[in-house]
This record gives sequence, structure tokens and C-alpha cells, in this order.
Amino acid sequence: MPTTPFLPLPDGLEITSLSETEQELLVRVTSNRVSSLCPVCSTPSFSIHSYYRRKPLELPCTGRIVRLLLSVKKFFCRVVSCPQKIFTERLPELIEPSSRLTTRLRSLVQAICAAFNAKGGARLGEQLGIHFTRETFLRSLHLLSTPPVGNVKAVGIDDFAWKRGKRYGTVIIDLETHRLLDILPDREAESVKQWLSAHPEIEIVSRDRGGTYAEGAAQGAPQAQQIADRWHLCKNLGDAVEVYLVRKKIQIPPSPSSNITTQQVAAVCAPLPQPEPGSCRYASQEKCERKQAFVDQVKSMHEQGYTTYEIADVLHLARNTVRKYLRLEGPVQPTPRTRRLSQLDPFYEYLTERWNAGCANAHQLFVDLQEKGYRGGKQRCAVLSRDCAKGFQGWLVHQNKHNREKRCLCPFRPQGSCVGCSPSGKKSSPWKKKVT
Ligand SMILES: [Zn+2]
Repeated sequence: MPTTPFLPLPDGLEITSLSETEQELLVRVTSNRVSSLCPVCSTPSFSIHSYYRRKPLELPCTGRIVRLLLSVKKFFCRVVSCPQKIFTERLPELIEPSSRLTTRLRSLVQAICAAFNAKGGARLGEQLGIHFTRETFLRSLHLLSTPPVGNVKAVGIDDFAWKRGKRYGTVIIDLETHRLLDILPDREAESVKQWLSAHPEIEIVSRDRGGTYAEGAAQGAPQAQQIADRWHLCKNLGDAVEVYLVRKKIQIPPSPSSNITTQQVAAVCAPLPQPEPGSCRYASQEKCERKQAFVDQVKSMHEQGYTTYEIADVLHLARNTVRKYLRLEGPVQPTPRTRRLSQLDPFYEYLTERWNAGCANAHQLFVDLQEKGYRGGKQRCAVLSRDCAKGFQGWLVHQNKHNREKRCLCPFRPQGSCVGCSPSGKKSSPWKKKVT
């Protein structure tokens, strides 16, 4: 059986037998070719060195795996000047050297992976009789050769992580077609310079704010104009606005479209009370001092000539953090925080009425709140009931003494969040209280 319409083979190959196992169809194929071209010097050789067998997978048939048992040869290369003394028989129409898939199957796997990605391709492959892992699909896709770059006028250069924090590469994009042009193994100026030097037609190089790509572009494409890409322009603007907001202690109110009341917005946007000198210190202040110490140390080491990498290693900081600290001007300011709204917020007025009416039973409050639409947990009601049972009178005094913003801090807040009053008295389970 030289060949069959179900499994066409190139000239010089013939099917010698068919068999099957529980999982696979086995097709024995023998090569009758008497010569092969040396892969190095391209000289045909008729000197057979030995025979060996390959077991590549072929396209599945009726949903079953098809495996070829391919008997091929090794040849001597008799060209004295050729460094390749022994080589394997080449069958370019059927299979690539060292491949475990035939060319037909490899092409199908690549097409599936390109259409569905590796994970989706692996799932689809299971239905088609191609039982490969997604890693195999991905490796097949990586075997595809990239098309030639051609003439390109504007390129965008940026880095990406092969392994985050460990190894980075460079991606080069055609800004006119948004097509990937090339991927460089590192993000060094020399690599960028060499790539750009091979393309003197480039007129525009879009890059990040780092000096590495600026140096590489200046040396590799001195004729090109360097511009900052849109993402980094927006990031520059965002960083500047953030620094301004932090320094001026401005909080941005939530979107008006969100389902909250005006009073809640006012409570959230109210300025945080400033601690009096000598009184309690905010945790954020201690964080600021720790951060300021880091910033001072980073700047000191930078002035001593340490590189960003060395500073990051010594201080155990991320390199981006080191760069951010070096860009920082003035003292470190705390980041304004917006208080998260509680699910109890809409029910404060109702809770106040209930407490004024004398109800101190947490379970009863919880049941009443559920009827009013409260979807929070029972424990939350227990905490507020316990706190209020101990400090309710104090809270009323506190409510009268303080302004509206401070009122919302007490007593229906987690214990300790209130600046002005702290609950006192014995702890008791709110579940044991009776409705009065
Ligand atoms: Zn040769």
C-alpha cells in the first residue's frame, strides 16, 4: 500500500501496515528514498549511516489518534569541508526535523491556537481528537515565524515582563498599523539601538519616560523624532493631579449617580478632624514618618552614586518605588482616605427613634431593620446595640455638643472609630436584653 486517499504521503514514502490499539491507530511508514540533502552544505548524500524510527502524531481520523511509525535513515555527509558529518533524513513535505507532530497536524494546532488561544484550543482539541495540553498549543504558536518588518515610519517601544521583577523584554509596535513588529529579549539601550539601526526609514519613535529607550533611540535612529506615548502622558498628568490633591487635602466626592443621600455625601466628604498638638496621633502620621525615612535614605544613597537597582536591593523596595521616591519633592503627605459607607447608614434616623423609644434589644432591632430593607449581618446590629447600651446617654450629649459631621461617627459605628466618645461600663451580650 504505497499510500491512501485517507493519508496522502509524499513521494518516496509508503505505508507498510496498519494496526490499532485501544487508544491509537498505528500506521507504519517506510522511506524508500536513497539519498537526502545535507542540511548544512545542501549536498545530496547516498551514504547511509543507519536506520531509526520516529513516532510522530498525524491528523486524527474519525476522532481517533493517528500515530505514524516512520522508518527513516541517517546519512553521512562526504563533503570534507562540511562540519556536519552525519545527518538525519529530511522529509520537509511531511515533518520537520525533531518534531513530534507532522506538518499537517502542527498547522492545524497553530490555527486553532491562533483562533481560540491556548486554553480554548486545548478544550476544542479534546473534541477533535487532539489531546494536547495548552502548553503544547502555545509552543506550536511560538514556532510560527514572524513576517518581515518592511518599511515602517512610526514605532512604539515599551518594556514588558517575561517574569515580573526578574526579567524584562522590549516590544516594538508599528504605530500606523498597530502591528507587532518585534520582541527584543531585554530592555537595554544597545538592543534598541541595533534594531533601530537596521531601519533607517523610521521617522517617529514613541517611548516611555525612561532614559534607556531615549538613549537607544538617539543612537539607533538619530534622524527620528522622539515623543512620549499617550499612556505615559496621561500617567504624568495623573501623577501631578494626585500629588496636588494630596498636598491640598482635597477629597473627590462620589459620583452623583450613586445611590446615596446628600447627608451621606456630606459626611463622607467632610474634612477629617485634625488632632490637637500632644493628643493622639493618627496611624497615617506614623506611616508618613516611616515613608519619609525611606525617602530620605533613598535620596541619600542616590546622591552617593548608588543605582536604582542597588538601592532597591539594599532597602528591599521595588524599583518603581525607588524611582517614585526619587521623584518626590517636599515632605511626604498622607493619602486622603474616604470612609466606606456602611449598610446601616440609611437606617440611622430610624435607629435613633427606636433607641429614643427605649428599644435596646439587638435581635429586635435586627428584625425591625430587616423589615425596613436592611440586608447586612446580625452581628453588626449586636455590636451597635452593645455600644449604644453602654454609651447611648453619652452619645446624646455628644450629639448635642458636636457638629453634624461628628454626629455620624457615634454611636452606630464600630467601637473605637469615634474620636470624641468612648463607651464605658461592663460588657454584656446585647442578645440578652429585653424589649422595653
Ligand atoms: Zn554537508
